[in-house]
Amino acid sequence: MHSGGGRVPVRADQRRLNGLRRWSLTVRGVVQGVGYRPFVYQQAVARGLAGWVRNTGEGVRIEVQGRPADLEAFLSALRAEAPGLAVIEGIEKRDLAPRRGHRFRILESDEERPPRPTIPADVAVCQACLKEMSTPGERRHRYPFTNCTFCGPRLSIIEALPYDRPRTSMNRFEMCEACSTEYGNPADRRFHAQPIACPACGPQVLLLDAEGGILAEKEQAMRAAGEALTAGRIVALKGLGGFQLLADATSEAAVALLRRRKRREEKPLAVMMPRLEQAQAYCKLSAAEERWLRSSQAPILLLRRGRGDPPAG
Ligand SMILES: [Zn+2]
Ligand SMILES: [Zn+2]
Repeated sequence: MHSGGGRVPVRADQRRLNGLRRWSLTVRGVVQGVGYRPFVYQQAVARGLAGWVRNTGEGVRIEVQGRPADLEAFLSALRAEAPGLAVIEGIEKRDLAPRRGHRFRILESDEERPPRPTIPADVAVCQACLKEMSTPGERRHRYPFTNCTFCGPRLSIIEALPYDRPRTSMNRFEMCEACSTEYGNPADRRFHAQPIACPACGPQVLLLDAEGGILAEKEQAMRAAGEALTAGRIVALKGLGGFQLLADATSEAAVALLRRRKRREEKPLAVMMPRLEQAQAYCKLSAAEERWLRSSQAPILLLRRGRGDPPAG
């Protein structure tokens, strides 16, 4: 045996690798932009497995090494415990020769392979982010662009695949130190969350007049927009998919003005409710409709009218 910094003799090295297996796994399906790589990382580290994971044009590729029982448990977790937004279409497995190394790492995307066009969808804000936004003292208190690995924009910000921050419209915003720390911490729910942002480094809200002049910024912009709505005016909100025209749904005059401007006399308008209980006050909801309203897709639903007085218009 050599001492101090010498190479480990080949025989000892092979002994250490005895009993270990190394697998190459290709996971296909909707596995990019849904927190799958951090999930794989956590599953591997929890079982003391070595190797790496990366996004490729085909999906996610993993090389993983450890004892056979741990590998089997890891493989079944890849499907059974996958994050809620992931859709696993198939996992291909190949045996490789074991190698030295104990760490498990998340590697940069493989740009050699042409990307396969599966694109993750935008996801409605999750409960954890909502709680953070409504808690005074939190870094993201009242910050409207809050998101995490489990929620936020995907499709709307992607400029090219594979899905990584440099290929999204978030590449204009350089992460601050606090966000970088969250992004790089496997225990954080923003570990490798590509659209990660905060008031210090992310996009900001502006309120503009009809000519594009800036009326207010940040917190004042949101307050002023709220006041305009309360005063019966119409606010155009630039969202992920385009502009939404907002009016106070409880004001006959505001809704009438919106209908005139939109030349939309009869067709229903979508009504936003902050809480499910409020929707229940106006509409009859089936169990399935409630599930949809609470889901991460958060679709617009056509509901049957209930007994409560309908909002205006
Ligand atoms: Zn979230
Ligand atoms: Zn930040």
